[in-house]
Amino acid sequence: MFMQQTLSIIKPDATQRQLVGEILARLEQNGFRIVAIKMVQLNQEQAEGFYIEHREKPFFARLIEFMCSAPIVVAVLEKQNAVQDYRTLIGATDPKNAAEGTLRKEFAIDGRQNSLHGSDSIENAAREIAYFFADSEIF
Ligand code: UDP
Repeated sequence: MFMQQTLSIIKPDATQRQLVGEILARLEQNGFRIVAIKMVQLNQEQAEGFYIEHREKPFFARLIEFMCSAPIVVAVLEKQNAVQDYRTLIGATDPKNAAEGTLRKEFAIDGRQNSLHGSDSIENAAREIAYFFADSEIF
């Protein structure tokens, strides 16, 4: 297993319910090292650029509106096998389908307001990390 980095986002539904501290604690308790972090509020253009691969999906417009609705916390997490292990920790997209013990099962409201984002591949992790952070901001 190689050391990897992945991009985590604590989404608007979670920042608005003051779950940031609790979620960050869970990430650290599960072996993820926070090597970069910031709070940002996305504008429409930034959110669309981030989710460009979903632009043709029927849920795209509502996803963009949701992601711009309040500040988010973006972080780079480092761990062996980080990309896959973080996806396992957060669980399925819709909390109805998420396994017991996953963060989305515990915190998500529904299949859109699902509290957390995580990169789904090593290639996307590299793109997503560079979308939010300069090399000098990653420790
Ligand atoms: N989403 C949505 N409606 C759907 C599917 C997804 O609003 O029917 C939102 C949800 O917030 C999800 C994001 O779009 O996290 C990206 O979708 P994806 O299928 O990539 O899920 P993820 O990788 O986040 O689990």
